[in-house]
Amino acid sequence: MKPSMTSERFTAVQLMELDACTRCNECLNWCPVYEEINTGQFTPAELPEGRTATEQEALAYSPRNRIMVLKDFINKGYGWRARLFGPKHIPEEDILKFKDELYHCTTCGACGSVCEAGIDTVEIWESARANMVINERGPYGKQSGFIDLLKSYNVFAADQKDRLCWIPEDIHVEDTAEVGYFTGCTAAYRMQKVGVATVRVLDALGIPFTMLGEEEWCCASVAVRTGQLGIAKEFVDHNVNAAKKKGIKKMVYACAGCHRTSIIDWPKFYEGGELPFKVYALSEYLCELMDEGKLKPEDFKFKNSLDKVVTFHDSCHTGRHVGIYEQPRRILELIPGIKLVEMERNRSYQRCCGAGGGIKAGVSDLALKLAQERVRDAEEVGAEMITCTCPFCRRNIMDGINAMDTNVVFEDEMVLLAEAMGLDLTVPQNPYTDKNM
Ligand code: SF4
Ligand code: SF4
Repeated sequence: MKPSMTSERFTAVQLMELDACTRCNECLNWCPVYEEINTGQFTPAELPEGRTATEQEALAYSPRNRIMVLKDFINKGYGWRARLFGPKHIPEEDILKFKDELYHCTTCGACGSVCEAGIDTVEIWESARANMVINERGPYGKQSGFIDLLKSYNVFAADQKDRLCWIPEDIHVEDTAEVGYFTGCTAAYRMQKVGVATVRVLDALGIPFTMLGEEEWCCASVAVRTGQLGIAKEFVDHNVNAAKKKGIKKMVYACAGCHRTSIIDWPKFYEGGELPFKVYALSEYLCELMDEGKLKPEDFKFKNSLDKVVTFHDSCHTGRHVGIYEQPRRILELIPGIKLVEMERNRSYQRCCGAGGGIKAGVSDLALKLAQERVRDAEEVGAEMITCTCPFCRRNIMDGINAMDTNVVFEDEMVLLAEAMGLDLTVPQNPYTDKNM
């Protein structure tokens, strides 16, 4: 008899990690989703309407509990008793309840960062989601629409031919170059100001670069984060081969989601497991050039002083997932007039903005609540502006700001850099102008 919950998509190491949880509860102190549910700020739709979650109900959404439930499910299917007498049946409603709890997670990685047992929680959540999808239990809510959207090769069902419709006429994009700029769907179609700022900065610093244009397909993050891995290999192979044709040896990213997916997920799907180019967050690349003496602070030729108290929000993807914390701060510190202040939760202890892990599409109310928590973090340290290197955090935090009574504003780090350098951030009129934020 097949176990009710199979071990498909889990690695042997992950199955052992389920046993490593000591129930120390440290992850409960850091999980932003558990905090929202436990304090009654947010109530999952699965709970009875009109009341907040009880302590026990909230615990079900905690990382510790999910590890314990998964361990129990796997034991029932594969433990010594199952080997002797066959797998113990798990009611489907129990597995579906677990599925709902599993998809109320931004995959931010805070639990893994603080876990003294060293459990790589994000990888476990994502393996569990992939397991749910192949057994037709997942994904969650509107997340199932991602695969249909991706038939257009981008998440907005936009025309691929328009991938570069926002590039200013005076910007020269090389046919082939050592450096490639992977724009990502969000900057290409919805936050074109971030794209314009990025190409303006590269151009002003004299860095020749190429782009994949209509051959740039979605990085596949939305599918991978929600366990829908079926399309991943096709998308990864396509992007990597397109980059090879352009001679790219260093791919730079101004989108944390594309960056994380390229550096961590693409090698899992690409034949041989090694990409033919190096993957960089743009701030990381600029810092490397400075460290090698190829770029000097005076090369930025700053013209404007921004005169603002700014705080940096580490995106989960570039921060906790990839480990880049200092480079974006080094770039901010170069900008005249910026007074950088840190939120209490920063770097590996950062509080997730709430957009990731498919939450923005799947549980949008929760995403909004979490964004507002992050804005309050900024208010507490007297910041006038939040900045970040992720268009997706930008969208969610701006949604949070718009839903609050606050004077805090948000701007992307590349936009701030370009503004201080006095670069023209006008986005040429294009079919997506009205959809931009
Ligand atoms: S990844 Fe983040 S949201 Fe998910 S369980 Fe861990 S701390 Fe909570
Ligand atoms: S921090 Fe790690 S060991 Fe402690 S309860 Fe959470 S998952 Fe288990």
